[in-house]
Amino acid sequence: MSGPLLKVENLAKHYMLGNGFLKQNCPVVRAVEDVSFSVAPGETLCIVGESGCGKSTLARLLMRIVEPTSGRVIIDGTDITEFGPHALRVWRRRMQMVFQDPYSSLNPRLTAGQIVTEPVENFERLKRKQREALAADLLQEVGMRPEIMHRFPSELSGGQRQRLAIARALSLRPPLIVADEAVSALDVSVQAQILNLLLDLQQNTGIAFLFISHDLSVVEHIAHRVAVMYLGRIVELATCEALFANPTHPYTEALISAAPLPDPTRVRPGAPVEGEVPSPINPPSGCAFHPRCPHAIKRCRQEMPPLAPMADGRLVACHVRTGAPAI
Ligand code: SF4
Repeated sequence: MSGPLLKVENLAKHYMLGNGFLKQNCPVVRAVEDVSFSVAPGETLCIVGESGCGKSTLARLLMRIVEPTSGRVIIDGTDITEFGPHALRVWRRRMQMVFQDPYSSLNPRLTAGQIVTEPVENFERLKRKQREALAADLLQEVGMRPEIMHRFPSELSGGQRQRLAIARALSLRPPLIVADEAVSALDVSVQAQILNLLLDLQQNTGIAFLFISHDLSVVEHIAHRVAVMYLGRIVELATCEALFANPTHPYTEALISAAPLPDPTRVRPGAPVEGEVPSPINPPSGCAFHPRCPHAIKRCRQEMPPLAPMADGRLVACHVRTGAPAI
């Protein structure tokens, strides 16, 4: 069996607030803390959580758009965490990103054809005919007519712009695309078209996706596995089926119970999570979820629960649900 395409080990990102002379006195935001997971070829791993849980920072760490404080990012067995700019540029062929807002992530001065072929032209010079043929192929692959290659982003709809962003990400044929809230800015009907496009692309090309979303109905539709983040840490990692059928961490349970169902006569079991996400500058002691958790015991306020394997293979960070003795 081949190894994972992407492996993340103990990744962390801390931001020091202020620029005081005594750095040790500056407050620290722990945006991402001790995050580990892997993505297999052809797999879709979704990262979910409320806004501010660190999922977008995690996406930027993987792409090295922001530098990690510690931990490792390994792609195809190569640790790229320490790569310099040149090696990083070459490695970026292996992993591309699609952002939430296609309008601000596309250069408004370039035509659709120039946008989708730009990544390839960063590596090789194309003749005009080659560029047009490549642009036509990429646009058709994401369900757009080749004539669109002469239009500018401002002349396209939101859904067309996101298709364009996906075509650009596909142009280097990466085995993995990181999609950060890639459908959140779109209307529901357009969302469905883009999600189906991603599923078709995966089926046809075997591409893997790391899909960041706060929308559980989207996640349920496309994920093979799901990692739930809370205050910078993964608190549950399970197959999509297992997670939705039997959420185990109290936070996962609350998130799923708050997600709307297409049938208004049905309600999800459990109570939605109450209260606000605590500040990452001054997180609660022990389990960071304890101020909002209806199952908290004394131990939860004192000890941080480790991410522990359960009988069905999922990982859960909870003293109560993993059966640690109560204190
Ligand atoms: Fe709730 Fe305690 Fe489990 Fe944290 S460790 S989720 S506070 S029961």
